[in-house]
Amino acid sequence: MVGSGLCIGCGGCAAAAADGAMAWDRYGTWKPAGAFAAERSAAFALRCPFSPAARDEDAIAAERFPAAPRATALLGRHESTWVGHVAEGAWRGTGSSGGMVSWVAAELLRTGAVDAVAHVVASDSPRDEGRFFAYRLSRDAAALRSGAKSRYYPVELSAILREIRATPGRYAIVAVPCFAKMIQLERARDPVLRARVPHVLGLFCGHQKSARLVDSFAWQLDTPRDRVRAVDYRIKDAGRPANWYRAHLTLDDGSARAEDWWHLADGDWGAGFFQNSACDMCDDVVAETADVAFGDAWVEPYASDGRGTNVVIARTPLIDGLIRAAVAEGRLALEEVDAGFVEATQAAGFRHRREGLAYRLTWRRWRGGVAKRKRVAPAARALPLRRRLVYRGRAAIARWSHRLAWLAARTGRPGLYLRWARPALALYRALAWSHGRLGGWVDRLLPDAPRR
Ligand SMILES: Cc1cc2nc3c(=O)[nH]c(=O)nc-3n(C[C@H](O)[C@H](O)[C@H](O)COP(=O)(O)OP(=O)(O)OC[C@H]3O[C@@H](n4cnc5c(N)ncnc54)[C@H](O)[C@@H]3O)c2cc1C
Repeated sequence: MVGSGLCIGCGGCAAAAADGAMAWDRYGTWKPAGAFAAERSAAFALRCPFSPAARDEDAIAAERFPAAPRATALLGRHESTWVGHVAEGAWRGTGSSGGMVSWVAAELLRTGAVDAVAHVVASDSPRDEGRFFAYRLSRDAAALRSGAKSRYYPVELSAILREIRATPGRYAIVAVPCFAKMIQLERARDPVLRARVPHVLGLFCGHQKSARLVDSFAWQLDTPRDRVRAVDYRIKDAGRPANWYRAHLTLDDGSARAEDWWHLADGDWGAGFFQNSACDMCDDVVAETADVAFGDAWVEPYASDGRGTNVVIARTPLIDGLIRAAVAEGRLALEEVDAGFVEATQAAGFRHRREGLAYRLTWRRWRGGVAKRKRVAPAARALPLRRRLVYRGRAAIARWSHRLAWLAARTGRPGLYLRWARPALALYRALAWSHGRLGGWVDRLLPDAPRR
């Protein structure tokens, strides 16, 4: 899995092996480490979320949500779909989006449905811990609130899964789609985990970034990385559109540096900078195996509302009921919407995971076992040249950002990365967008290109 570029670094395999461990690789992603990582066992193949031998999201969801009244090809099985935000308390203000993830987690704690929630929090001492963020178990609302916000940073679950297996109780886990899949694969195999993890709270996911994105922020904000104490990928500002991301670093002397993403050499999420290679083979945007899934409402008027707005997919009757009751009490400002609305909020993600995945599956790198087991069939013929170049461009940006940022960090010369990143992004944008001078030039060169 590691050699083929399909390891996302979730830590499921390490948690299940007596001598299992995870370690950073040179590109700033987690990988299995030590003797166990060299084993080839059928059991590992069945539990790894990207393994062609593992059950796919459709099969898992059919087993997990057999009575779900609704299903679409893009959202999977579900009870209901919503748009809005938390109305009560400070959840919306402290969350990245509408605060719904932290609220649902807190509600599960408050109602006694779980004893603890595994989610991702900032490290107390990044230098000592060797990471800026990690999974932690929170047992009350205040701890949950302190861990709110999206961390576009690699995390792994091995220590938490071990702790859950060792400590009786009921737990919820907040997880991106591939982590949710791994948890469900583990739950199916392990009765202890099945009993102790009754709820998985899913996050929609565009892709996962490597830890090098923090290095890049530090380089561009003229700050030695060793002095960075805290990272906020998208600081909230109610006065600006929610999709105008602003990166924020807190330094060891308490001072801060911040910059809007669009001024950064790699500040275009969709261009694929530092993307984990496994994400190129993912076909789940909306955590189809999670009991409830949350994303940002990336359509107007919500995208322009800097206070943040969620879309939510409830997949179990329990979560659906919990949301309906809280809406009736005025604690949540959510409105029920149809599946098409939620799908539209993730149009770019679905394009990349359906049209883009179909195309990537025709590449030599990905042909073979994995291609046969995806829920998307390989296809390239009908795809216009411009779209092909966009997908090729993203893959090249992902691959070269890893290599050049590693070289820049190793040599202490950030320019090696930054001098490549800026023109790479400009070229990508010219391909992906049909406006601007470069875009017009590309249009003349590729007249069959569809306009966005
Ligand atoms: C890597 C990544 C990619 C994403 N891509 C998309 C996307 O393409 N489209 C979209 O609409 N939304 C995406 N999201 C989700 C979005 O950023 C928000 O997390 C979501 O809308 C919930 O916001 P909230 O205000 O309800 O959550 P909050 O109340 O802010 O709570 C967020 C919760 O998630 C936990 N958390 C943060 N980072 C991680 C992580 N890496 N892994 C597991 N748990 C974590 C936090 O600890 C906290 O408990 C992504 C999130 C991540 C982490």
